Amino acid sequence: MDHFQYTDGELCAEAVPIRHIADDVGTPFYCYSTATLERHYRVFAEAVGGLDATICYAVKANSNLAVIATLARLGSGADVVSGGELKRALVAGVPASKIVFSGVGKTASEMAAALKAGVMQVNVESVPELETLSGVASMLGIDADVAIRVNPDVDALTHEKIATGKSENKFGIDWESVPGVYRLAAGLEGIRVAGVAVHIGSQILDLAPFREAYERVAELVGTLKADGHAIETLDLGGGLGIPYEDERPPSPKEYGEMVTSVVGGLGCRVILEPGRMIAGNAGILVTRVINVKQGANHPFVIVDAAMNDLVRPSLYNAHHAIVPVAEPPAGADLKEVEVVGPICETGDTFGKPRPLPEIQAGDLLAIRTAGAYGAVMASAYNTRPLVPEIMVSEGDFAVVRDRITVDDMLAREGLPGWLAEGREARPGAGD
Ligand SMILES: *Cc1c(COP(=O)(O)O)cnc(C)c1O
Repeated sequence: MDHFQYTDGELCAEAVPIRHIADDVGTPFYCYSTATLERHYRVFAEAVGGLDATICYAVKANSNLAVIATLARLGSGADVVSGGELKRALVAGVPASKIVFSGVGKTASEMAAALKAGVMQVNVESVPELETLSGVASMLGIDADVAIRVNPDVDALTHEKIATGKSENKFGIDWESVPGVYRLAAGLEGIRVAGVAVHIGSQILDLAPFREAYERVAELVGTLKADGHAIETLDLGGGLGIPYEDERPPSPKEYGEMVTSVVGGLGCRVILEPGRMIAGNAGILVTRVINVKQGANHPFVIVDAAMNDLVRPSLYNAHHAIVPVAEPPAGADLKEVEVVGPICETGDTFGKPRPLPEIQAGDLLAIRTAGAYGAVMASAYNTRPLVPEIMVSEGDFAVVRDRITVDDMLAREGLPGWLAEGREARPGAGD
C-alpha cells in the first residue's frame, strides 16, 4: 500500500498534487511519501514484534537524510555499508548504538570512524578484514563487537546481480570455514565476538530460501555456542521482495512468523535489515514528456528522466509501472508505447512497451515504486544534473535534496596547467 493516488483527476502524493511540485521544482524529480515510509516501517516492526528485534533500515536502499530521519523517529536503527552512509545515519539522528556496519570491503579509516562513533556491531566478511579490524580497534583501545557474516550457500531465487548467499558470490565467509574464523576471532585483540550475520540477497519473493538460510544459521549458533562462543546477536539481513508488477512476495507478517519460529527460541537479539521493503513503494520518479516519436513497431514516448536517474530497468531488466499524472478518463483508449530517456544508449528505456492512454509532449508521467535503489544509484551520465528529491508529508512538501546542476559539476572540474589558456600545444602532441 502506498499514498500515491488519484484525487480529483490528478495524481497526488498524500494530499499534494504532483503537478504542483512539478511546477515548483521542475522535472524530473523523485518524490517520497512520509506516510508510506511510516506505514511500511510499522507493518514490519509489528510483524517481528514477538522477537527481541532491532530493525536496522538498510540505508543503501534510499539514503536521503529525510528518509533516514523519518525512520529514525520511529525508532529505526541503520545498516550502513560505507563511511558515507555511517555519516548520513548519524547526521539523520540514528543513535550509534543502533547502527550495524556491513559491507564486503571496509577500509581501515571507515572501521576507525565506526568504532569511534560507537556502532552496535561490525559485520566482518573475511579473515583479512577481521585482522585489520583487530589492528584498528587495538590502536584505538576499543573492543569491536563483531558478527561474522556467513555465506549459507542458499539460492535466493532472485535476479543474479542481487543474489548474495551462494557460495560463488563474494559475500560472507564460506560455510566450511566459519567455525575456524570464529576461533580466530575469539583470539584476536580488540575483537569481541557478538554474533552471526547473514544476508542472502534482495527482492526475494519466496520464504523458502530465507527459511533455509535461517535454519542453517540457527544450527550454526548451536555449534558455535558449543565451541564456547557467546552468540548474542543474530543479524538476518534484509531482502524481502515487493510487488513491482504482479509479483506476490510474502507479507511482512508471514516473514515475521517464519523468523520467529526459526530463531525465536535461540535466546539471541535479532537484527533485521529491511531496505527495499521500507522505501520501494514510498517513492516515485516524476518526469515530463519531451516528445512522442513514431517508431517502426510502436511509438516512443521520450521523457526527460533517463537511465542515469533510475538505472533499475537497464541494470536488472526491472519493471516499473508508469502512469500519467493527469488521471485518464475511464475507458480511455490505450496504446502500446515504449517510454525511453534521451541518453545515447539503447538500454535507456523504462521497459517494454506498455499500454498507456494518448500521451503528448508536456504531459507528466510517474514511474512508480522508485523509492528504493533509485536516487541512490543515479549518476550524471551524459552530463545530466542529478535530480532533486522531494519529501511529502500530508499537505506539505519540501525539497530534501537540491538539483545538482551542470554548473555545480563544472565547478569541480579544472584544466591541467598544460591546457591552460595561452599555452602552446606541447611539441610532439598531436603528431
Ligand atoms: C542491501 C542489503 C540489505 C537490504 O536489502 P533489501 O533487499 O533492500 O531489503 C540488508 N543487509 C545487507 C547487508 C545488504 O547488503
